[in-house]
Amino acid sequence: MAKLLDGKIVRDKIAQDLKSKIENLQAPPRLVIIQVGDNPESNTYIAQKIKFGEKIGANVKYLKLPGDVTEKTLNFQLSTFNSEKSINGIIVQLPIPENLDKDKIIESINPAKDVDGLHSVNFKKLMENDPTGFVPATTKGVLTLLDHYKINPAGKHVVVVGRSSLVGKPTALAFLNLDATVTVCHSKTQNMERLTKTADIIISAVGKPGLITKNHISPGQTIIDVGTTVVDGKLKGDVTAGEVEKIVDWISPVPGGVGPMTVASLFQNLLQAYQNQND
Ligand code: NAP
Repeated sequence: MAKLLDGKIVRDKIAQDLKSKIENLQAPPRLVIIQVGDNPESNTYIAQKIKFGEKIGANVKYLKLPGDVTEKTLNFQLSTFNSEKSINGIIVQLPIPENLDKDKIIESINPAKDVDGLHSVNFKKLMENDPTGFVPATTKGVLTLLDHYKINPAGKHVVVVGRSSLVGKPTALAFLNLDATVTVCHSKTQNMERLTKTADIIISAVGKPGLITKNHISPGQTIIDVGTTVVDGKLKGDVTAGEVEKIVDWISPVPGGVGPMTVASLFQNLLQAYQNQND
């Protein structure tokens, strides 16, 4: 039976560490979360971030804008926060309504405050393995989870399923930076089982429950399930955990795996931003 990669335990450890570091700062780090519209899943994720921020003594400002807000108004807000010295990190909670140009908005965030690590400046730093950039929170969370359980990806074959700019691509790059051999699969990949079966570590970031089954895996593997889909009010990952956990060595649960790690990693980035800005 697989051992569990428990994100809640690691998140709580990070929370303790961040809390004690923040207690010793002159002022708490400040994060601004901007939400556009009222996506119910975003509401849940934002509530988790606010709760975690309170727990560690960070200051979280939450700005909810109406779904029909213009790009001009949003950009005005961003430019105010970009230049406000007391604000260390800014995130725009995704998804945003389709009428807004997501890429343009992300590029409007000051890269020094882009604690979600989505700005092209930070993406380039990730590509160049430059540690001064911000690694996107989910990717960072996956790496920290593996590190906690002493699973070293160097020299290993890592298969990342999914190639989004938010998760798949940065995760693939981050593993390359750690000297893994990386294969990236996506919706056009043929005969994906052939590839996933040869992996040492599989990272699934798709959002399709039941995508990864016993037919995709081999004994001894580590499986990280990033996928989160609400089915009948319950959160489901991409992996059919019941059958897979009988075969592999390690598996991250959904919920309780990568999700808590993502929140904790965001605040690690916020502390990094604070320290950079106050050096
Ligand atoms: P996304 O933008 O929709 O990307 C999904 C990716 O999956 C795409 O690259 C797509 O390929 C690929 N894909 C779709 N069907 C596939 C198939 N049958 N086989 C292989 N690949 C397939 O989603 P995302 O933003 O990356 O998020 C992925 C999942 O992670 C979602 O469930 C999301 O909710 C979850 N998530 C969780 C956390 C967390 O903290 N736990 C954080 C962020 C996201 P193409 O590029 O070819 O379309």
